[in-house]
Amino acid sequence: MFNERIHNFNAGPSAIPLAVLKKAQSEFLNFEGTGMSIMEMSHRSKEFEAVLARAINGVKSLLNIPDEYAILFLQGGASLQFSMVPMNLATPGKKIDLIQTGVWTQKAHKEAQKQAEVHIAASSEPDKFMRLPALNEIQISPDASYVHMCSNNTIYGTEFNEYPKPPAHIPLIADMSSNILSRPFDIQQFGLVFAGAQKNLGPSGVTLVIIKKELAERADKALPAMLQYRTYIAENSLYNTPPTFGIYMLALMVEHLIALGGLKAVEVRNIAKAKTLYDEIDRTGFFKCPVKKEDRSRMNVVYRIKGGDENLEKEFVQEAEAAGLAGLKGHRSAGGLRASIYNPVEQASIDALVKFMQDFERRKG
Ligand SMILES: *Cc1c(COP(=O)(O)O)cnc(C)c1O
Repeated sequence: MFNERIHNFNAGPSAIPLAVLKKAQSEFLNFEGTGMSIMEMSHRSKEFEAVLARAINGVKSLLNIPDEYAILFLQGGASLQFSMVPMNLATPGKKIDLIQTGVWTQKAHKEAQKQAEVHIAASSEPDKFMRLPALNEIQISPDASYVHMCSNNTIYGTEFNEYPKPPAHIPLIADMSSNILSRPFDIQQFGLVFAGAQKNLGPSGVTLVIIKKELAERADKALPAMLQYRTYIAENSLYNTPPTFGIYMLALMVEHLIALGGLKAVEVRNIAKAKTLYDEIDRTGFFKCPVKKEDRSRMNVVYRIKGGDENLEKEFVQEAEAAGLAGLKGHRSAGGLRASIYNPVEQASIDALVKFMQDFERRKG
């Protein structure tokens, strides 16, 4: 039992900035003088339409998104995108290329195979996903429909700093669920990016999709309407009832990032946070990060104790939890420890974790 908020290192759903939670709390019962909660009003009301516009414009301004792209809010999580992307963008007779970097691209691979032949353009599976393929290792088929990649591998703790550049006629598609809006990037390098909101963008239940509009025209019109991007583009995400509360929270999240100074400023904070934690992990050898240095993620810091002492790791997680440091257990498929330090996690939380790690090492090292 805690009487106050603790340090939250959960992988997703994960921390939301206190300022955002307080703002939502202050508007919870009576949104902007409407006498009702945002959750209780029509998605066709002018008040909700204004909230939707705030969410879209926030994303647009943070990423400098030009008009040939649409910003959409869908349901079904990032996982539905593993199916929707190939259903809409695979061209008959052509291969889908995929860069295999962990569980999330394996899942995307499995769904893509249902729509077309998949060519693995590069894979770090032989290295247990503890590194990323270098850009010059990536062999893109000359006639691929598109290339699928994951920009940040939440489970293994790897993150691309540079993206592959396929030929102009082959769009690059990225699953950015766990690092979107944590750093600037050029949307024009991508045909489509998607992200489940519950890591960097707010609560679960809404998926952000940014798509170059012309790509939506590839899809067979016989696909179910709910599974075509063009439906959401034509109706500005209001074909059916969208996840209104999630979109509202996402609007508050992006406005919070704008208030912090935009993505360049957010990136500076994230670099400093990650450096503090990796420096401590590397300090003595008691903790060890198995990920190749250049490929380490700024969002998900994966590490082990004494080369993988599972009993000590279990003790670490339990004691940390008791001390108000939550969510440090590694993903069930990777083991070890993981601190997810998305945008909302403050430097003060990293400092508290480092202090706990030093104390633990002093006692158990
Ligand atoms: C969490 C995560 C997913 C799955 O998201 P859902 O919204 O639960 O479907 C997919 N890709 C990445 C990179 C993730 O981190």
